[in-house]
Amino acid sequence: MNIVLLGHPGSGKGTQAKLLQKKYGIAHISTGEMFRSIAKEHTELGRKVKSLIESGAFVPDDVTVRVVRERLAKPDCTKGFILDGFPRTEQQADELQNIAPIDHVIHIHVEDETVLKRLSARRNCARCGTVYGLDRVPKQSGTCDTCREPLAMRADDDPKKIKRRIEIYHAETKPLIDYYKRKRLYATVNGDQDIGKVFRDICGVLEGKKVTK
Ligand SMILES: [Zn+2]
Repeated sequence: MNIVLLGHPGSGKGTQAKLLQKKYGIAHISTGEMFRSIAKEHTELGRKVKSLIESGAFVPDDVTVRVVRERLAKPDCTKGFILDGFPRTEQQADELQNIAPIDHVIHIHVEDETVLKRLSARRNCARCGTVYGLDRVPKQSGTCDTCREPLAMRADDDPKKIKRRIEIYHAETKPLIDYYKRKRLYATVNGDQDIGKVFRDICGVLEGKKVTK
């Protein structure tokens, strides 16, 4: 079962990927996390990725594809995988079909307004790293439950920047959605529901109960 998950930051994609991993025994591969961990390795690739991340540049396609190919060859992927953060372009999607053909592309759809609300409500504790938000409200407003530190908003969670990120996300994702629609692999589920309901909808798609054009 080879799955690609699409969805906004704040769509609950990470949570759903973890639930899928547990239920179906498939690997959850977040390319963002993967690159952050590769950047810590003392290898030629590690140093290259580290300098790219630090300069704010994108990791080039050939490097990304190579890393994904190696990752998908690992034993935990034999039953399948969930890709999160890859592919980002049609070209990457084509390469992926050659490496490991995809069975389902699931788009967790959340209204822009919801994303804006969720992300702009996010506050974190600089000391312990706990993230608070609509789904996790601190006992005392503006203060961390564990260390009593005042909570702060991340610089890129300011509403103007979130709006910009949402626009970029749409522009980037549109060609991918069209690509997978042409291949008849695309389905969308409503992400504006509670976690359990979203998960049941996703499983329904995977088990062939609901197909969206
Ligand atoms: Zn704290």
